[in-house]
Amino acid sequence: MTITVASGKGGTGKTLVATSLALSLRKDVQFLDCDVEEPNGYIFLKPDIKKSETVYLPKPKVDISKCTFCGLCSKLCRYNAISVIKPKNKVLFFYELCHSCGTCSFVCPENAIYEEQIEKGVIEEGAVKGMFHFIQGKLKPSEANPVPLIKAVKKKIKKGKINIVDASPGTSCPVVQAVNNSDFCILVTEPTPFGLNDLTLAVEMTKKMNVPAGVIINRANIGNSKVKEYCIKEKIPILLTIPFRKEIAVAYSKGIPLVEIYPEYVQIFRDTYSGIKDMIK
Ligand code: SF4
Ligand code: SF4
Repeated sequence: MTITVASGKGGTGKTLVATSLALSLRKDVQFLDCDVEEPNGYIFLKPDIKKSETVYLPKPKVDISKCTFCGLCSKLCRYNAISVIKPKNKVLFFYELCHSCGTCSFVCPENAIYEEQIEKGVIEEGAVKGMFHFIQGKLKPSEANPVPLIKAVKKKIKKGKINIVDASPGTSCPVVQAVNNSDFCILVTEPTPFGLNDLTLAVEMTKKMNVPAGVIINRANIGNSKVKEYCIKEKIPILLTIPFRKEIAVAYSKGIPLVEIYPEYVQIFRDTYSGIKDMIK
């Protein structure tokens, strides 16, 4: 099973939830940090990293002497990452949009497109206190597009395991890639107008992707009741509410997981997981 933890905006407590869920379930868990631009699950889980592999992905280039400027590569690139300017005899690649899918080199009738292997980042793997497997992607600082690295991290998903995927915040391509093919998506939010606005976008995203979703409201005792009202209206299950407590905020700032300062949350997260399993059934 794959459960992705996402949030429409940053700072809602997404990683607090993802790490607490992993630490509560422990058995048969794999934690995959797909927030590859800023992975921070390791701060709370403190894994013993045993393996690090560099991820290389193909970067298309054109041999202009072979190109007839037919435009086929540009037409078939799903990501609008190529522009063929016939009058100027130019082929431009927009690498920040390129997903290294290989289509352009495959379809070019003149074999004018070749690929160079480019370093995208690293995938690190280790164990969390001997309890479960930990995987994180770290995007190379100069890289603009995290999606191919997220795909590479998600290849580590194992069928028989409870794969907990920590997505990046927002609703853009990296989040879509992290949520894609998940069995369930936990959306973490807070009861504020910003929280509601970004939750609405995240719910739309999961609906379009056909991924069942539920909401965890963090700092539930501050703000207003609009998030709850929205969830009821949209029939989105509220899986859990976590109240604001100064101790949680202080522990979070020190990299201490929620379940370590409030061990009663271990059972609460286990019950939440049971509820998710029932919903998926
Ligand atoms: S498909 Fe090949 S020949 Fe056609 S424009 Fe692209 S690079 Fe040039
Ligand atoms: S590799 Fe794929 S995404 Fe990148 S330019 Fe070619 S067709 Fe577009």
